[in-house]
Amino acid sequence: MFAVGFTHVLLITTYKNNAMDNNAALVLFSGGQDSTVCLFWALKRFARVESVCFRYGQRHASEIEAAQAIAATAGIPFRIIDASLIAGLSSNSLTDASVPMDREQTGTTPPNTFVPGRNLLFISMAAVVARERNIANLITGVSQADYSGYPDCRDTFIRSLNETLNLAMDEQFVIHTPLMQHDKAAVWRLAGELEILELVKNRTVTCYNDIPGSGCGECPSCKLRSHGLRQYLSTNYTN
Ligand SMILES: [Zn+2]
Repeated sequence: MFAVGFTHVLLITTYKNNAMDNNAALVLFSGGQDSTVCLFWALKRFARVESVCFRYGQRHASEIEAAQAIAATAGIPFRIIDASLIAGLSSNSLTDASVPMDREQTGTTPPNTFVPGRNLLFISMAAVVARERNIANLITGVSQADYSGYPDCRDTFIRSLNETLNLAMDEQFVIHTPLMQHDKAAVWRLAGELEILELVKNRTVTCYNDIPGSGCGECPSCKLRSHGLRQYLSTNYTN
């Protein structure tokens, strides 16, 4: 009986020695426009910033290379997680090249570029990594202002998941969503404020057809991005 009690005390001691660091943040970093802005936003606010990227069979695989290069420029740790199982769980045009891509949202259902469960699974996996690294803050670039009909980009979902993760791991994670109320023009403005406008313009990948920078110009993601940039340049930009 004594041995059991002693083991229990040891476990508690170990746990206390690994307290979560409230000055550390883990950025869910895809190499796209939004998460790149989030990464540099985080660097202004947290003493320790790390990044995690997911490989999930996405069409735009070059974004992973972009993410790795930008993380190196920012001088932060970068980790790739293999989440390719998600591609086999549903039929969607982002992970299945045989499904023609919706050009825009039709009706009230999400476009077929929606990958069901993606943010739920990615943020959950990131939280596990964060816990291992004693990182209390998670940062994701989701936005409900320009959410393209994706239900897992909405604030109500993020707040619900935050609570669930805290219950699941008995931690006090804080999920930050700096772009939640930002449309694409506002994301460009924030990039300007963070002095990374050229980096975001030239080195990020948001195009569903895997073309860096301003992309193919045709896919829904490129259209959103270029429309936002035009808006930002026309209303806020001064030479
Ligand atoms: Zn494109």
